[in-house]
Amino acid sequence: MHALTLHRLDLGSAGEPADCVTSLEPQDALLTATDLSATRGDGIFETVVVVHGIPQALEAHLERFERSAAMLDLPAPRRDLWRFAVLAAAEALSAHTPRGAVKFVMSRGDEAATGGPTGWALGFAPDSRPGGATPEIAVVLLDRGYRHDVAQTSPWLLQGAKTLSYAINLAALREAERRGAQDVIFTSIDGFVLEGPNSTVIARIDDVYVTSPAELGVLPGTTQADVFAALADQGAAVETRRIDVDELRRADAIWLCSSTRGAAPVRSLDDIPWEVDIPVTDRMNDALNARKG
Ligand code: PLP
Repeated sequence: MHALTLHRLDLGSAGEPADCVTSLEPQDALLTATDLSATRGDGIFETVVVVHGIPQALEAHLERFERSAAMLDLPAPRRDLWRFAVLAAAEALSAHTPRGAVKFVMSRGDEAATGGPTGWALGFAPDSRPGGATPEIAVVLLDRGYRHDVAQTSPWLLQGAKTLSYAINLAALREAERRGAQDVIFTSIDGFVLEGPNSTVIARIDDVYVTSPAELGVLPGTTQADVFAALADQGAAVETRRIDVDELRRADAIWLCSSTRGAAPVRSLDDIPWEVDIPVTDRMNDALNARKG
């Protein structure tokens, strides 16, 4: 990640959005050492891809941000303010790169003060893809250690919220690397497919494109939603339902979808080579690249 722009939000003010968003240098100090984002990972975020200054699927990201805030009992984000901040960050970013991303963050705030949440929007250039092509990825299945109904039985575990606590997701990616792979598909202890540490799974099983539902404690993916809309437009069958691991093992193609990476085809699963459907992968990414916001 190469930080290019930074905007701070004044979340305490009820004024016009333009009065609440300040542009800083990306190297500027932003947080106190006692901010709960740094000391506890207590906050939420979204990462939206920006093409020529236009944030993609912005409303879907703002909606998910609000959902995460509610799950963490954070104050409801003012949508006009966050939209304004992301648009300002996206515009500033477009002076640096035609394709970047904006990460917008709300922390619960400084634990030593009573000032309320801290907010910022960071514009950055994601790590570039070698040759610009969507990488084909080797994936391993890892047990997340929870049942498929953890979101209902133990909502305090915050499964399905996009929190700042990604240490576990990063540890899973290191485990994948130790196993000679680049990415992970998490499974529930009772054998259902969940999601990647930073992606949504789409599998094609019996000619139907399927993905796991949010009630399994996974993030509703904005990229997957746009891919499904495009596939449905093209006449394909799409379905959001539980997928058991045995079904995944007989899928004829699998993709991991995320805002910064698009639809990345899986080329192996637990060391078993997997068929990569290049025409469909191209169609998925063409549809994502054709979005106008
Ligand atoms: N699931 C998790 C855990 C994620 O962190 C992400 C994105 O980073 C996704 C799914 C994919 O979401 P989106 O397509 O909206 O980027």
